[in-house]
Amino acid sequence: MTSQRISWHQYFIAQAAILSTRSTCNRRHVGAILVKENRIMASGYNGAVAGTPHCTEVGDYLVDGHCLRAVHAEQNALMQAAKMGIAVDGADLYVTDFPCALCTKLLLQAGIQRIYFMRDYRPDPFASELLDQKKVSIEQVPFEANTAEQINLTQFLKED
Ligand SMILES: [Zn+2]
Ligand SMILES: [Zn+2]
Repeated sequence: MTSQRISWHQYFIAQAAILSTRSTCNRRHVGAILVKENRIMASGYNGAVAGTPHCTEVGDYLVDGHCLRAVHAEQNALMQAAKMGIAVDGADLYVTDFPCALCTKLLLQAGIQRIYFMRDYRPDPFASELLDQKKVSIEQVPFEANTAEQINLTQFLKED
């Protein structure tokens, strides 16, 4: 039997993927998780401001092809930390998708040190430039088929 223990990178990127499934935007579903010393600090997914109508209920608020209604996953993770009084200076970000320029600016200002993303759909050139200038590393961590097998959530299904 092969090892059932998944790597740290796969562990966190898989959690970002699971978080994305809570998205309430009709656009790309994104999940993000802030991690420090292999501990989860905060997490988020993209969706409307809490307590206001979801994109899935009233439609996206599209401006120039972007949905203004949704708070981005990375922003929600940062705001969750702010709300709970959790220091994220020096933390790493695991996110399903390459961050946009605004999220990158906020992440850099919050002191995020490393970014690991899963999908590289339309990487933002200004985000890349800022990350480079701040010497913050960004690395693609694809979700592996082997990990999906190792996680195998169906093993936890209640048997009849
Ligand atoms: Zn939306
Ligand atoms: Zn963003």
